[in-house]
Amino acid sequence: MKKTMLTGVRPSGNLTLGNYLGAIKNFVDRQEQYNSYIFVADLHAITGYIEPQKVKESVKNSIAIYLACGINPKVTTIFKQSDVLEHGTLGFIMTFQTKMGELSRMTQFKCKSNQQTKEGVDTGLFVYPTLMVADILLYNTAIVPVGKDQQQHVELTRDLAERFNKRYGKTFEMPDVYVAPVGNKILNLQNPLEKMNKSDNGDNKGTIFLLDDIEVAKKKIMSAKTDSYNNVHFDEDNQPGISNLMSILSKITDESFESIEKRYKNKGYGEFKKEVAQVVAELLLDIQSKYKTYNDEIILDKILKEGAMQATNIAKQTLSRATKALGLN
Ligand code: ATP
Ligand code: MG
Repeated sequence: MKKTMLTGVRPSGNLTLGNYLGAIKNFVDRQEQYNSYIFVADLHAITGYIEPQKVKESVKNSIAIYLACGINPKVTTIFKQSDVLEHGTLGFIMTFQTKMGELSRMTQFKCKSNQQTKEGVDTGLFVYPTLMVADILLYNTAIVPVGKDQQQHVELTRDLAERFNKRYGKTFEMPDVYVAPVGNKILNLQNPLEKMNKSDNGDNKGTIFLLDDIEVAKKKIMSAKTDSYNNVHFDEDNQPGISNLMSILSKITDESFESIEKRYKNKGYGEFKKEVAQVVAELLLDIQSKYKTYNDEIILDKILKEGAMQATNIAKQTLSRATKALGLN
């Protein structure tokens, strides 16, 4: 029997090159080997305020992008988190298994709560990792491909699954995280000390969205911040901007860093950026042409309906095991 793979993306804006290279591509490359589930994490989108209309639009848009990126609905179950009510219930249960210290230690909480201090920190930001725990455990997941920023949350999932199993008897499978060696943290092109985020508010010059106009995307790469070493070399500490562009190129083309360094020995950054811009443009063109075909209400509704049924079926069984173990039914 195939093991289960699962991943999800928040519908908090248009998907970025970071989401594609860090999570979706790794999922697509493995979807046939596993019993695969991908979902749109709309409950995670409301951990802070986002306009309801934006969430709604972003859900459909995300599914169409998943399909355009190569997710095959014939082999992968695609669903919307809020269609499967069990996520909320198990999330609630798992929150009660968690220490406050465990949640306050989460790097994502520390980073994002710092930005929120003026108006107070949303509890959603504090407890969303336990909802993520439920997302993963509901499907008996064996492997979770995510970017580096989400690794800690999968580790929390393992801790909580182990704690629950010890207290109440074996209920949950232990998931493993898969963080790919290359492209696991694509950086903002204008600020290569920060991760590229889809929900960044600003001029977006450092973020490549998968649906960006091709010329705009190329310009963003050409004006990416680099350094004055003038040496195409992979060194994340001293040359984060150039290393970021090398990661993007390597992840898309599979070319090693050594080989890229060799080809660009004694050549300028302009030439290197041109190649990265071209490769990204080709990727975006391919995704965008498929997106047009898939961005169709009838197709998307059908996929979501089927996905919700399949996902609910498994999620119900897991939740029932958990509530029985707790003495609740
Ligand atoms: P948000 O700003 O709403 O948090 P995000 O771009 O961080 O958006 P998420 O929905 O939080 O996207 O994450 C979806 C998936 O994409 C996760 O697996 C996450 O690790 C991965 N991911 C997000 N940003 C990057 C990035 N810059 N590089 C690599 N992977 C990323
Ligand atoms: Mg994020």
